[in-house]
Amino acid sequence: MLVYNTRTHRKQELKPIEEGKIRMYVCGPTVYDQIHIGNARTFLSFDVIRRYLIYKGYQVTFAQNLTDVDDKIINRANEEGRTAAEVAEEFSNAFIQQMHRFGIMDPDIRPRATREIEAMQQMIQILIDKGNAYVADNGDVYFSVRSDDAYGILSGRDLDQLRAGERVEVNDQKRDPFDFALWKAAKPGEPSWPSPWGEGRPGWHTECCAMIHRYLGTPIDLHGGGQDLVFPHHENETAQAMCAWGKPLANYWMHTGMLRVNGEKMSKSLGNFYTLKEVLDKYPADAVRLLMLQTHYRSALDFNFQMLEGAVGTVERLRTCVKNLRWAANNAQAQNELGEGERALGQAIDQARADFVAQMDDDFNTSGALAAIFALVTAANKYLADAGGNASTALTLRAADTLAELGDVLGISLSADEDELPHELVDLARQYASYEGDSASEAADALLTARQEARKQKNWGVADSIRDGINALGLVCEDTAAGSRLRKANDNK
Ligand code: AMP
Ligand code: ZN
Repeated sequence: MLVYNTRTHRKQELKPIEEGKIRMYVCGPTVYDQIHIGNARTFLSFDVIRRYLIYKGYQVTFAQNLTDVDDKIINRANEEGRTAAEVAEEFSNAFIQQMHRFGIMDPDIRPRATREIEAMQQMIQILIDKGNAYVADNGDVYFSVRSDDAYGILSGRDLDQLRAGERVEVNDQKRDPFDFALWKAAKPGEPSWPSPWGEGRPGWHTECCAMIHRYLGTPIDLHGGGQDLVFPHHENETAQAMCAWGKPLANYWMHTGMLRVNGEKMSKSLGNFYTLKEVLDKYPADAVRLLMLQTHYRSALDFNFQMLEGAVGTVERLRTCVKNLRWAANNAQAQNELGEGERALGQAIDQARADFVAQMDDDFNTSGALAAIFALVTAANKYLADAGGNASTALTLRAADTLAELGDVLGISLSADEDELPHELVDLARQYASYEGDSASEAADALLTARQEARKQKNWGVADSIRDGINALGLVCEDTAAGSRLRKANDNK
């Protein structure tokens, strides 16, 4: 399996540190507001990477932090007259809730910065003792980039060029403008913890590093985040790990491309964002996932609602195919000999799985993997149309199960439960089909049979009354090659 490594600028064979096991970490959100769909794209990419590694048989341990102390949280708390802890609690919960709605698997370990102060202080002390960090006059502790010859190794930046080219925050406590805070001395009214260097709070770059060391051990296999984290966040993380423990933080560094609107990165500061919540309030999670997965995770993704509308239809088309396959399997009238059509579908099933795996093995090419799914759907639809009422139960089931299995790897559920049919169908069937039972699905079958019978006898009045009764319940009769059935009227085909 090939994985693109930001550190080496190329795809490399994935070689886990421990055979059969992957330890991975993805930087979590700063919890001061609802996350936007750009953030969600990054979390989705790593959710699918994780799902695929599990599918391949790896035992994956996945950790993700919550940055629950930060300037943005403190600012919001001050504006709203609340404590920083209250703001962080609200948006940690909101984040977890939206991740669940979006079908993102919970991490195995979810450390919170405010509960890991001791681990961070231990790491900072090691860095001070080794001469890689210094305590400034005001009680801040800084990492000294000049003390680290390898600084710049991840992002491929050279400190001298950086100094010449980039504007950096002026801070008279720092010895070098690129030195970064490991510990920030407390300001009045801010949350703080006691430390050997005075009251204060940890710096952002210190958090992830200390948590990875504590919960996963260094190095880990995969470390991920959005491309905007390569510098300085991940550069700083890896510098700390290398200097503190003499080990790289991760063997493979993976970064997702930015989600953009109108060619610009979606971000809170530009104000051009949609929250994940507002999008999921209007659109099904599966459609949002499908839309995002149609672009490779390393490429920029240009988001627009027109494409999302298209994705809603695509997911429906995939689901309808699985539904039709299962329905054909249940209603196969005769188990026919395996003929040309069955051989073709059998081959399409094997080919789809092989293509899916080949695409995902190539640095998680989800758009190629989706193409493999679409190819199977096309083959399955053709088979169903050709087979009419004589579909093979075994093959239609195998095709449906394969589609559902591959969908699951992408976290897109294709084997949704059969639509619940309304119980009023029973009354209708009593009226028109002399039905005496109490099951909505039996009643539906009885009504469809009665309607067919009435049409055969050119009894149009009765046939139309049955249809109208069915329509009045929000259902439509659908006549397919293999027979008739009911579906919800607004259920786009
Ligand atoms: P933050 O809370 O800003 O640290 O962001 C959380 C995650 O979302 C990080 O991995 C960021 O790199 C990522 N991210 C931020 N903006 C975007 C974007 N427009 N597209 C994709 N990922 C993003
Ligand atoms: Zn991080």
